[in-house]
Amino acid sequence: MIASLNTASQAKKSIENSERIETNNAANTYENESEKVSESYPHLFQPLDLGFTTLKNRVVMGSMHTGLEDRFYNYGKLAAYFAERAKGGAAMMITGGISPNREGWLLPAGGTMNSKLDVINHQRVTRAAHKYDSKMIMQILHSGRYGYHPFVVSASPIKSPISPFKPRKMSIKNIEQTVDDFARAARLAEQAGYDGVEIMGSEGYLLNQFLSRHVNKRKDIYGGDIEGRMKLAVDIVKAVRAAAGEDFIILFRLSVIDLVKDGNVMDEVIIVAKALEAAGVTIINTGIGWHEARVPTIVTSVPRAAFVDFTAEVKKHVSIPVMAANRINMPDTAEAIVASGQADLIQMARPFLADPHWVNKAKNGEADRINTCIACNQACLDHTFESKRSTCLVNPQACYETELVYKKTKKPKKVAVIGGGVAGMSAAHVAALRGHEVTLFEAKDILGGQFNYAKVIPGKEEFFETIRYYINELEHLGVEVKLNTKVDKALLEAGKFHHVIVATGVVPRSLAGTLEGADMPQVMSYAELLSGQKSVGNTIAVIGAGGIGFDVSEYLTANHGQALDELAPETLKDPSYRPKAQSVSEWREEWGVTEELNYQSEGGLIKPEAITPVRQVYLVQRTKGRLGRGLNKTTGWVHRAHVKSHGVIQVSGVQYEKITAEGIWITNNQGQSQLLRVDSVVVCAGQESVVELMPNVGDAPDAQYHLIGGAKLAAELDAKRAIRDGAEVAAGI
Ligand code: NAP
Ligand code: SF4
Repeated sequence: MIASLNTASQAKKSIENSERIETNNAANTYENESEKVSESYPHLFQPLDLGFTTLKNRVVMGSMHTGLEDRFYNYGKLAAYFAERAKGGAAMMITGGISPNREGWLLPAGGTMNSKLDVINHQRVTRAAHKYDSKMIMQILHSGRYGYHPFVVSASPIKSPISPFKPRKMSIKNIEQTVDDFARAARLAEQAGYDGVEIMGSEGYLLNQFLSRHVNKRKDIYGGDIEGRMKLAVDIVKAVRAAAGEDFIILFRLSVIDLVKDGNVMDEVIIVAKALEAAGVTIINTGIGWHEARVPTIVTSVPRAAFVDFTAEVKKHVSIPVMAANRINMPDTAEAIVASGQADLIQMARPFLADPHWVNKAKNGEADRINTCIACNQACLDHTFESKRSTCLVNPQACYETELVYKKTKKPKKVAVIGGGVAGMSAAHVAALRGHEVTLFEAKDILGGQFNYAKVIPGKEEFFETIRYYINELEHLGVEVKLNTKVDKALLEAGKFHHVIVATGVVPRSLAGTLEGADMPQVMSYAELLSGQKSVGNTIAVIGAGGIGFDVSEYLTANHGQALDELAPETLKDPSYRPKAQSVSEWREEWGVTEELNYQSEGGLIKPEAITPVRQVYLVQRTKGRLGRGLNKTTGWVHRAHVKSHGVIQVSGVQYEKITAEGIWITNNQGQSQLLRVDSVVVCAGQESVVELMPNVGDAPDAQYHLIGGAKLAAELDAKRAIRDGAEVAAGI
């Protein structure tokens, strides 16, 4: 048993370490801030009386698999991760999924709660939360047929599209044992000091598999109509209540809209909710869509709070508190939900990775200092699917609280950061946070670098928030920001800096000189297009089908977002400007989600609206095969679906011959010469580093130089690496 390797003394040492490191962390600026309560969010900061205990506010950190919960030796890091969020003001926090038994593992040897030794590990987590007056909940998750191992079981032996393992049908004895295993896990959780458990009944995991006809084809007492299909969930709640007693919080995460064929209708969801209340649930939490659903539910292009009215529909039929979830990331959205009575509590998971102090910042009236989760999934869920530890693109400290520490410096230094993209802003932020005297130079008249292009892609409006966050933080920390300043070596020498961080980024790769006609006026880089410097005609060839080629294709074909003439450079420089995001109704039409709250269509699905794209786009690459194969796991399918539904013609395996006034000549994958008749060509062929300010070998500058971000490595440039690079370099000087 993995847990048996652990000892109480290891646990104690780990707690001491994490607590010592916490106190050194210069980022923890919110712990002892004033008692003032923001008048902007009065409902969010009302306590919630549960009868036997009280939640201090309405903001709950939802369950998020970090990877730390799967290994006993990581529980010290897990405790430090939760301590930071508890300190940041969360009323209640829920662990990542912990399995009640081996069959329920998500991954081989995943985190469990089935022995006294597990209790010792988990005590580190509960102590960390309680130190800052946050309730700590353990999520019990049985993955059913979503498990990635050969012991998987389910209601019926139907393989899921997201695991290679076909499940075994559970026998009645097996089901009864599973009920006991949930009860035992809850009892042990109570012994470990948890204030309650969350029973995972949504997102397509085991209990959702039983609840829905999508998987449950049984004819016995656990199948058939909804009364039979919900029996397992209800039996588990009753068993957990009996095992843990009355003064124990039981949350049930209920799928309020399955978004899969043969999914439940709202009448069935309501029957289940009422039965769960009668069985002893304290709070109903919201689940949206199964993991295998072909409707996005949490990616950045899903409008904020897109599903909250389905939660509100359930709330009408129960008397226990109900919690809203999915794409809620800022306090104004959260406040509006609680104030309108659509839900009693707000659950956010990823926003707590992005900013552990979200709650206290909202409470202190400093929402504009929140590091907003941009719903990119790049460092959290994508990592989970790659069996890597989660972290956060905009906050590289997440899940690395004990390793990436921003210690206050005892010897402040003069630091120059050259380049105001996300790498440079991250470096300047961390260096200033640590007490260094920082000057940030930017050649353009706007901070944000490549994020300024991303932010205007329809569905990527959240990227504005990251730029806003850094601008505000740099100002708050007293960083001297010099825009419109082209740095040269003389300027650096005159500044007498101790450290120079070169974050000069990238330029888009130009094909001029390598492809005939690439210097014609109708040819432009993605940067020229997205900054409003150049405009396009009605038919366009996009050269290069990486992430930016897909983004540009979406930008050119979307029938929502901003008109091109509104994207004038002046508008885009205004940090308070936000392009009009797609409305919830428009988004539902596009993806085939019902507008009816008491929906009678299976899983809430309807036929998507046919889309008339704004322009005709050819997306072209030299590599053979399907386009978009390199896009990220949890978001790539959304981009591929978007370009397909918007009529983008995808062409692979080509050679570029030349660009003429008629369009672009290619040799197609049959070896024939072919003209794509287009008005404009947008080049999205990657980037090249800008490094001219790095000293040459043999130079002996007074300052120490550091190269970070795209300037260091343009290939597969990404914001996750850029922000982490900046933070790590600044943490080390
Ligand atoms: P990229 O992913 O490297 O794609 C550039 C594409 O251009 C390549 O796939 C390549 O395809 C083509 N190309 C390269 N050199 C070329 C040349 N000399 N002539 C013609 N075509 C050439 O770069 P990117 O699209 O600029 O994206 C940059 C980074 O940002 C990537 O890490 C990406 O993952 C990330 N990003 C992700 C997203 C997203 O997930 N939605 C969005 C934006 C950016 P062929 O060789 O096949 O022609
Ligand atoms: Fe949010 Fe992206 Fe960070 Fe995940 S990686 S928490 S989605 S900002």
